[in-house]
Amino acid sequence: MRIIGLSVKRIDYPMRRPFASARRASTVAQTVCVTAHLEGGVVGYGEGAPAPYVTGETVASVARDATLATDALQGLDARRIRHWGAALREALCGPTARAAVEGALLDALARTRHLSLWHWFGGAREWVETDFSLTLGPLEEVGRHAAEARAAGYRTLKIKVGGSEPEVDEARVRAVAAAAPDARLRLDANQSFTPETALRLVSRLLEAGIPVELLEQPVPKDDWEALAAVTRACPVPVIADEAVQSVAQAMCVARTGAAHGINIKLAKCGPLAALEIIAVARAAGLRLMLGCMLESLLGIGAAVHLACGTGAFDYLDLDSHALIGLEPTGRPFAQTGAVLSVDPEAPGHGWEPVATGG
Ligand SMILES: [Mg+2]
Repeated sequence: MRIIGLSVKRIDYPMRRPFASARRASTVAQTVCVTAHLEGGVVGYGEGAPAPYVTGETVASVARDATLATDALQGLDARRIRHWGAALREALCGPTARAAVEGALLDALARTRHLSLWHWFGGAREWVETDFSLTLGPLEEVGRHAAEARAAGYRTLKIKVGGSEPEVDEARVRAVAAAAPDARLRLDANQSFTPETALRLVSRLLEAGIPVELLEQPVPKDDWEALAAVTRACPVPVIADEAVQSVAQAMCVARTGAAHGINIKLAKCGPLAALEIIAVARAAGLRLMLGCMLESLLGIGAAVHLACGTGAFDYLDLDSHALIGLEPTGRPFAQTGAVLSVDPEAPGHGWEPVATGG
């Protein structure tokens, strides 16, 4: 079962409405779709949605790296996952490009066996529940979006914080709590706080009775001391996101206790390293989140197969398709309210470019 090659296509998805974090503002989700071709005409699909501030990649570099990876993979046996996985690493692809290529090859391989990726990842559970992310925007707008999301069935809302004024961050969270009083609230600072600012915000919100569930990446990704300082004092779990993009960095969290948990994203490490990070986190008793960049149904579908298949995640943040405005139709996943599920009978993840259009 030889790898014939890869084809690469850039796809832009205009977003339903602009989305901003402390690090970037997006009106278009830029993605790269990789198609893996195996002998016998079997194909598989993978997606890379780069976030330049996280991995340093752009859609242009992801498309270039994935195209160049063809040379390293052509002729290899698709069934020898560790073999082609090593070749792909040596080809010096960026992590998001590697994620797209690995995703496409695993999908193609599963299709040759008429096996869903959900089965391949372990078939642990049939559904997961995602949160819904709220933009770093004006209070009134964020409150309105929170009420809409709660009405649509999302019980957990993730609020982007880390704007220029700490008071405005607090007011934004309060606005969400007022608009969706029974929702659990996650905070994501995208590296924008000092330890003091982070701890002050969380304690003020908890004192006000606002149900903060966790705090994601409060401080700059390279400042492990600051991350550990927040983790030692924070009354809610601190989850490392941008700081952990590799198995080695996951080991660093496990060894030092610098965070209570890790947010894995396929775009940061690819599915093969994701499985290794899951193993490290489980052995160390760390919590696990599965998050996303700005993937379409293809990339989120791969993540839903991983989440349901491994059953490894405490927190799910798989909502970029909804931020873009794409409706899941069953393959690669289905959605009812906040509940995401897979079709266990779909070979691979089941995404088809013609059938779903995205
Ligand atoms: Mg995050």
